[in-house]
Amino acid sequence: MQIYADNAATTRMPGAVIDVMKECMENIYGNPSSLHSPGQRAAEVLAQARESVALMIGAEPKEIFFTSGGSESDNQAIRSAALAGKRKGKTHLISTAFEHHAVLHTLRKLEGEGFEVTLLPVYENGIVRAEDVRNALREDTALVSVMTANNEIGTIQPVKEIGAACREAGVVFHTDAVQAAGHIGLDVKEMNIDMLSLSAHKFGGPKGTGALYVRKGVPLLPLIEGGAQERGRRAGTENIPGIAGMAKAFSLSMERLEENRAYVSGLRDALIEKLSEIPHARVNGDRERRLPGNVNFCFEGVEGESLLLLLDADGIAASSGSACTSGSLDPSHVLLALGLPHEVAHGSLRLTLSAENTMEEVEYMAAKIKHAVRYLREISPVWEELEKGERKHVI
Ligand SMILES: *Cc1c(COP(=O)(O)O)cnc(C)c1O
Repeated sequence: MQIYADNAATTRMPGAVIDVMKECMENIYGNPSSLHSPGQRAAEVLAQARESVALMIGAEPKEIFFTSGGSESDNQAIRSAALAGKRKGKTHLISTAFEHHAVLHTLRKLEGEGFEVTLLPVYENGIVRAEDVRNALREDTALVSVMTANNEIGTIQPVKEIGAACREAGVVFHTDAVQAAGHIGLDVKEMNIDMLSLSAHKFGGPKGTGALYVRKGVPLLPLIEGGAQERGRRAGTENIPGIAGMAKAFSLSMERLEENRAYVSGLRDALIEKLSEIPHARVNGDRERRLPGNVNFCFEGVEGESLLLLLDADGIAASSGSACTSGSLDPSHVLLALGLPHEVAHGSLRLTLSAENTMEEVEYMAAKIKHAVRYLREISPVWEELEKGERKHVI
C-alpha cells in the first residue's frame, strides 16, 4: 500500500492537467513573442491561461505575472515593495514569525541592506491578530506580508482584516497564498490584497510554475532583467506548458472546491480525533481556522524523523514539517513561533490530505501511527525519564 499524505509539500497532477501540458509540448511550440502563426498560437494559450488564473482570484488578466513558482513570487513581491518604499524614504517592513522561508530569508537579506523588519507573533493557535498589524504600522512602513495559510500547521489568517488595515494606512499588503490557493476561496478585491503569490504544484499543477498578482497601480520591479516578457516585469521566454498546466489545475480545483473541502475536512477531523487518543499528543494550530487537509501533531518523547521513516516503511508518505527544513535537524521555526519548547518542536508529524485519500486510508494511518509512537517511546531514554517522573511532561 502507498498512501500519499504530503500534499502541502507537493501534489500529484491530475491526468487532465498532464493532457493539457502534453498538447502544449507537442503542438504549441512557438515563442509567444514571435509574430508568425506558431508564435501567435502560443501567445493565445498564454493569454487564455492569464485570463483563467485572474478569474480564479477575482483579478484582471493584466494584474497576473507568471513566475517560476512560489519562491520567486515571494522574492519579487517583497523586494519590489521594499525598493519602491525606499524611494519614498520608507524602510520599515512588517511580517510574521512563521512565514515560509521564501519570505523570511528575503526579509533577512533586506535587513542587511538597511531595512528594519518587525515580525509579529502568531500566538499559541498560530493566528496573527489584525490589531497587531494595525498597531505595528508606522509612517515609514513600506510593506506588510502575511501568509494566507501556513504550510506546516495549516492555520488560516484574517487576511481581509489585515488588508483593510493596510489599505487604510496606504501600505502595500502582500500575502503568500501558496497553500491556500485551490483549497479555500480567494478574492483579491474583497480581501484587500495588493500582491499575492501562487505556486502551481501545490494545487495539482506542475513544479516550477507560479504567478504573482499585483493590483493595478502598485509598482512592480523586475528581479530578472532581459526581454520584455510579462510586460517588462519578468524576463525570459514563457513556460507555456507549465503556465497552461497551472491554469488547468487551478480551474479544476476551484470547480471542486466546495465538494473537496467538505470531503477532505471530514477525513482531517477523523484523523485528528483518532490521533488525539494517543497520550501526551497535541494538535498544533487552531482546530477550526485551518486548511481542509492539514493534520499536525506533536508526540512527546518521539522524534519526528524516526516516526517518518517508520511510516514510510508502512507505505505512508508524511512530513515532519516543511520540506525545506526536514533533512536539517533544526526544530521547526513555525512550531517555535507557537511557543513550543525545542524538544517538542523536534517531534512533529504533518499529514496533509487531498481528495484522493479515503477514510480507509485514514484508519490505516491512525493505526500505524499509534503503533509507531508506542514503539518509539518504548526505546526512547527520554520517554523512560518522563515515565519515571525524572523529567516533566510538557504536553
Ligand atoms: C511551497 C511554498 C512556497 C514555495 O513555492 P515553490 O513553488 O515551491 O517555490 C512558498 N510559500 C509557501 C507557503 C509554500 O507552501
